[in-house]
Amino acid sequence: MHIVVMPGDDIGPEITAVTMTMLEAVNRAYSLGMKFETVDVGMASFRKCGNTMPEAAVQKALDADGVILGPCGMTLYPPREEGGINVPGTIRKRLELYANLRPARSRPGVPNARPGLDVLIARENTEGFYADRNMHMGIADFMPTEDVALSIRKITREGSRRIAKVAFEYAARRRKNVSAVGKQHVLQMTDGLFMSEAYKLAEQHKDIAFREVDIDAMAADIYTRPQRYDVILITNMFGDILSNEAVALSGGLGLAAALNMGDKHAIANAGHGSAPDLVGKGVANPSGLMLSVAMLLEWLGARHNKPAYVEASKAIEAALDSALADAQARTPDLGGRGTTTSFAQAVTARVDSGELLATGAR
Ligand code: ATP
Repeated sequence: MHIVVMPGDDIGPEITAVTMTMLEAVNRAYSLGMKFETVDVGMASFRKCGNTMPEAAVQKALDADGVILGPCGMTLYPPREEGGINVPGTIRKRLELYANLRPARSRPGVPNARPGLDVLIARENTEGFYADRNMHMGIADFMPTEDVALSIRKITREGSRRIAKVAFEYAARRRKNVSAVGKQHVLQMTDGLFMSEAYKLAEQHKDIAFREVDIDAMAADIYTRPQRYDVILITNMFGDILSNEAVALSGGLGLAAALNMGDKHAIANAGHGSAPDLVGKGVANPSGLMLSVAMLLEWLGARHNKPAYVEASKAIEAALDSALADAQARTPDLGGRGTTTSFAQAVTARVDSGELLATGAR
């Protein structure tokens, strides 16, 4: 398997480096046969060739079996016409990654984690209320007069169908429960179309429990009775907001993991941003990226029918559960005393240990 690694900006290179040390240990322990190639993107690429996302890097991603992308921060990028290209946005478009999968699980011993929370948010990734994704030309956030501003939200039948399909596929492997979230009685056409595709999938999967929930009810419910939810099927902007809430309820943004996937490609890409305030301090939490890598291994295992990849994914999850429960090991954002490097060593040691290898995972 050929895996392209793009370290990204700000804390990206720091958390990517330690994540790769852990992954190399997993690669050896499970004989996965992965080969890694580092490809610069973001400011590292701009300094070399005047472009944050050159076409050659896009081609590398297209040719790879999987991609690991560190967080990218656009704050230092020059304007687009001078080479400051949105890295995750370009990859998402070119690799047709229509699903953004964001898990949030409360792990034993993590401070402020809401007991009973264990969800996978399946968020549509290509349309919705995002001005840069909605239009063939121009942007969908505009001002017809100086006192009026408008945004357009785009929902398509195909976009809704394919994310609903992903949600039901993942639910079949989890606790067999899908909650589709929107506000259909207000957004009758857009959320109506989104929900109609969700109901069609529910009809085809009678073994999976299905319910429709309003986004405002969900915002409260995920706090008061999180155990009610398993897979949450949701449109783009609502999903962005709800997934940050969910990950905060699991302990904090440093745990934010994400897999961006389509029919042919997937990238592991932490669910948090590039945290410029933490650069060089050695305290950035690599958990989000490590968990994203575990999701990528699971995806590769299912796609190529390689059970060792699925086992390796579970072992990373188990190693993180164990390291995160230890206040000496975990990083300061989760009330711990560890550093980026010492925490990653704690995770790697657990992956390497015979005990975890023998037990697999949860
Ligand atoms: P973006 O707009 O790129 O998503 P953002 O401005 O919303 O980014 P993040 O970079 O995601 O914000 O993070 C917000 C704050 O959360 C950071 O400034 C940092 O303090 C904290 N944070 C984010 N990721 C981590 C991490 N991996 N480890 C520790 N703290 C983090």
